[in-house]
Amino acid sequence: MSIGLLRSICTRRPGIGSYTAACRLNSTFAIPQNSKLSWMLLPTKKPTKKSGSADIPKPTTTDLLTKAGYIHQSSAGIYTLMPMAQRVIDKIEGIIDDEMQAIGGQKLAMPNLLSPENWIKTGRWESTGDELFSFKDRKQSTLILGPTHEEEVTAIVKEMVRSFRQYPLRLYQTTRKFRDEARPRAGLLRGREFIMKDMYSFDVTREQAIETFYTVERAYRRCFGRIGVPYVVADADSGNIGGSLSKEFHFVNPSGEDTLLACQSCGYTANEERARSRCAGHSAFLATMVEGEKTRLGQRLVVVPADHEPSALKIKQAWPTQSSQRIEFTRLLANNSTGYTNAATGQLAPLVDSACDVTLPHELASALGSGSGSESEVVTGDWHVAQAGDSCAECAGGTLSAQRAIEVGHIFYLGDKYSRAMDLNVLHQGERSHVEMGCFGIGVSRILQAAAECSSSGANGGLMWPMNIAPFLAAIVPLTGQDHVPQVYQLLSGITVKGQSVFKDNIAVDDRDYLSAGFRLNDAQLLGFPITVVLGRAFASSSEVEVQLRIPGMKLEATSIAGIEIKCDGHECRALVRLDALGEFLTAALEKASSSAVAPGQTDDPLVGV
Ligand code: ATP
Ligand code: MG
Repeated sequence: MSIGLLRSICTRRPGIGSYTAACRLNSTFAIPQNSKLSWMLLPTKKPTKKSGSADIPKPTTTDLLTKAGYIHQSSAGIYTLMPMAQRVIDKIEGIIDDEMQAIGGQKLAMPNLLSPENWIKTGRWESTGDELFSFKDRKQSTLILGPTHEEEVTAIVKEMVRSFRQYPLRLYQTTRKFRDEARPRAGLLRGREFIMKDMYSFDVTREQAIETFYTVERAYRRCFGRIGVPYVVADADSGNIGGSLSKEFHFVNPSGEDTLLACQSCGYTANEERARSRCAGHSAFLATMVEGEKTRLGQRLVVVPADHEPSALKIKQAWPTQSSQRIEFTRLLANNSTGYTNAATGQLAPLVDSACDVTLPHELASALGSGSGSESEVVTGDWHVAQAGDSCAECAGGTLSAQRAIEVGHIFYLGDKYSRAMDLNVLHQGERSHVEMGCFGIGVSRILQAAAECSSSGANGGLMWPMNIAPFLAAIVPLTGQDHVPQVYQLLSGITVKGQSVFKDNIAVDDRDYLSAGFRLNDAQLLGFPITVVLGRAFASSSEVEVQLRIPGMKLEATSIAGIEIKCDGHECRALVRLDALGEFLTAALEKASSSAVAPGQTDDPLVGV
């Protein structure tokens, strides 16, 4: 086809604003080098037999990402991000940068080689344990490979900020983090070296810090809405970071390591570790604080709802422990008089779960007797591990159900935990107080693998990417020579959706004509580009291209798009489209896809798409 014919295709439909830019075709146009798959480092392994049958197990997402050349394992939990994966990472980081800058985030880059000095001050040198990578330099000084940067950023602010007028501050970076995870797993999901975006906020008052927390939460909702994988926000535990207000962002997926409990009636969602619930009856446990193998530091009686376990995590709020100490539980049977006697002689007040709906069960109260176990010493609170099937604590009539999920972001209000330990203070209205902090993480490299995991389930053997983070939105696969590729490339580049040039720098060309047609078509499916435009035999005879759509979550009840018949198998669809209708077809397909996927800017929905 000549450039003249393509130009006439454009001018024939002047009313379609969405691709009029394509009419500016340039006969000397050259495909950018970095769009060419022949230029990219990609594996050229032969396609294997269709997996998923009884004898060939379905490949894991790590297998697919490796086979398609996105990642390359260096050692346990340590991976190279190959050029195709780096494109995904760049897009995720681009979205995060947009949203962090929009709320006044200032980007900086702190070192990854850290001195332990400040970690000793905050106590985390001791409490972090084996996850911390540390080593000695040539002068025998110890250094840490940064797993997170609260200490470092607090030291910088302490040194540089002189007046309350310089607050608030929102500082963020996207850098590699190092954690010697006990069980690195599933490729980038749990790595020992990984990419994290971490923001740290500094405010003068508690109220301002809490306001910052919710501002960042809204920015996170926008980020995850734009990334395009359905997500949930859960109440969470603060863990080793500390602080009192904390929320996690999750992609719901069976491969996740976390369990979320959610109420379908009121939308309350929390990590199992933190979830609250209502339940009847009671069980009693003897809690022993232990150090090392033998040292018993104390005992308490814990009363929780019947058939529920006590939560060490929750109990630690009322009975703080050091990192070297743990709490062990022994179940007390109602007729276990030794156990009751044990508890009764203890010097400490019992912990009674408020969800039991009793102050103290009668038989326990009498076993404790008066004196050391008097009612005034009873500490009531939420001490049990909630379970699926429990009644929701937030509404009347709701029941909690469980789902597995992958944590992709975590936000914390820290209060003065770090500013107090490192004496970062501020003089305001005549009073000196510790600066109020927050910290906000997003697992950038984890999102790559989690998005592939969640989005590829509808694919027939390959990967699938949400459109906004796909390495390329479209690929052109010319099977009968390269002659017309520059023109088709320009035609695609001219398409705009809602005023945006969505294909700009976003088109790959599989010009590897030293590979067979079958190999390249298989690769397009494996690599998971949302749109593949195949120039095959029909193109030479009737200017028709085959358009393949692989768009996660797209609702596909329709049998046609823009009047053109589509054939779908799961989430993969195909259509034969005349070149003069390609712009209209793709515009309609992309609009349909963006309305059925997680819409960008869905900021205030408590649960998006789940
Ligand atoms: P997890 O409970 O999964 O270990 P965390 O609570 O230790 O996570 P944070 O310290 O809050 O994680 O880190 C912020 C984000 O960094 C997490 O929400 C997660 O997405 C990501 N992340 C944490 N650890 C890893 C890891 N080992 N590999 C990849 N990403 C990680
Ligand atoms: Mg962790």
